[in-house]
Amino acid sequence: MDTVDRRTLLASGALALAGAAAPGGPVRAQSGPKPIFTVPAITIPIAGEADVFPVRRIYCIGRNYAAHAIERGSDPTREPPFFFQKPTDAIQNVGVGEVADHPYPSLTKNYHHEVELVAALKSGGSNIAPEKALDHVYGYALGLDMTRRDLQNGMASEKKPWEIGKSFDHGAVIGPIHPVAKTGHFSKGAISLAVNGTVRQSSDLDKMIWSVAEQIAKLSEAFELKAGDIIYSGTPENVGPVVKGDVLLCRLEGLPDMSIRIV
Ligand code: MN
Repeated sequence: MDTVDRRTLLASGALALAGAAAPGGPVRAQSGPKPIFTVPAITIPIAGEADVFPVRRIYCIGRNYAAHAIERGSDPTREPPFFFQKPTDAIQNVGVGEVADHPYPSLTKNYHHEVELVAALKSGGSNIAPEKALDHVYGYALGLDMTRRDLQNGMASEKKPWEIGKSFDHGAVIGPIHPVAKTGHFSKGAISLAVNGTVRQSSDLDKMIWSVAEQIAKLSEAFELKAGDIIYSGTPENVGPVVKGDVLLCRLEGLPDMSIRIV
């Protein structure tokens, strides 16, 4: 196909039809500004699937277990759920059976683990009713909401945003996503984290103050949720520090274990 033919086809609106039949494949219309470089897409592997889950936003819920709310100095019976975000490229994927190297981040001297259930959405909306909320969940994963606690606390004490304590490179550790079709939804089940073989965090999902359905409903009042959003659903009590060389083992009843080594 020569240039004149392309122009003729573009003008006639027959481009798609002609492209499908042309030996060289479809002809692409060149229109509009193009990105000046490529930013990598952020994805999470899906257990048992060749395809991957594209991440749009990372939401996290704070103080969602009563005992953790108390250890962080708030009243779990009176405080509504609150949320923060991590940048999408804070994701660190951890495969099943591996012990992934996790870099100890800059600036902190008090780096904490927070093991959490993560819900991954395939659809969304605004003002989602709790009883419809789980229809939007594609699957679940084990996650670590890693936290530079000294920076978080320092900023909080000065009434400044504590973003620097939560939103940093590799700060959103996650295992593969397990589709709801295979695992069902998670409303109860043991969740734990061990450091060098010693269990530090141990609780049950049924102790979450706000269920995954309620988290989605509440979040959707503040933000329009969309496919690709993931939600870290809060950590149980006994968060604590890790140092270089520590090996963390996260467990959630019904999912494979997830493990990282701090390097
Ligand atoms: Mn957390």
